[in-house]
Amino acid sequence: MPAAVCLRNVHKVYNGVDVVNDLSLTIGNGEVFGLLGPNGAGKSTTIRMATTLTRPSDGHVVVSGYDVVRQQLDVRRQIGVVLQQTSVDGDLTVWENMELHGRMHHIPAAQRRQAIVNWLGYVELADRRDDKVKTLSGGMKRRLQIARALLHNPKILFLDEPTVGLDPQTRRRLWEIIRDLNRQGMTMLLTTHYMEEVEYLCDRIGILDQGKLIELGTLAQFRQRHGEGILMTQRGDRWDYRFFPTLEAANAHLDQQPDKTGMMTRPSNLEDIFVELTGHNLD
Ligand code: ADP
Repeated sequence: MPAAVCLRNVHKVYNGVDVVNDLSLTIGNGEVFGLLGPNGAGKSTTIRMATTLTRPSDGHVVVSGYDVVRQQLDVRRQIGVVLQQTSVDGDLTVWENMELHGRMHHIPAAQRRQAIVNWLGYVELADRRDDKVKTLSGGMKRRLQIARALLHNPKILFLDEPTVGLDPQTRRRLWEIIRDLNRQGMTMLLTTHYMEEVEYLCDRIGILDQGKLIELGTLAQFRQRHGEGILMTQRGDRWDYRFFPTLEAANAHLDQQPDKTGMMTRPSNLEDIFVELTGHNLD
């Protein structure tokens, strides 16, 4: 079986600048892959290329064995897309939004009706089916977007910041949905700014910065590479961070300090590594 998503030496040039710069990345079937990076790093552009919304300037993007430039329609049949921009139409009802999407994918009427009932039930929006979308909460709208993206039974779901702006409880509910879909075999590529989201959902992580992939692996691998222990030292109103291979090593170093004022140790986390690599905070 071909990989779910395969990017080979991909470039995207806007106004003479490589906003995606020689990106190579393979996402396996059944994986939940998290793409992180500061604003402007090229995450959305990468998703837009993989979902056929914009063409790569150079290189190859192959989704489920299909080339995004030469086999656009085949790619689109394999994927569901939940982007910030492709929001649902507020003046249509929940059902009408689903119906429109089903027709766009040429799903036959009887099958379409059944799939709409199924997926609205799955995301717990069955009782809102006749309400206009503009009356739904942010979390409900996002669940509707997910239900809509799933209507044609895609193998791979792309989610661009799926829980941005949602309260913690609603975010958790979406995480459960994403996890459950993954357990059913769906591959996911998501972008996010939330560390807990990555920790809860993602099997592997890629960090993009200025269009380049600067780190790739599991969170455990990241911590091994950069250090599993952190020594924090307060200097005025800011903190200095120093990595140690282990928490024990950080503690041993702290023990040796004659003056431990303003110093503390803890296990490292993704945020520490992200800041170390990019110089930016995650959100
Ligand atoms: P991210 O999703 O990581 O925040 P984007 O992929 O949205 O980053 O953007 C990467 C860079 O490409 C940014 O500098 C952005 O301004 C630029 N960019 C994105 N889309 C376009 C476009 N359609 N035309 C010109 N520049 C663009």
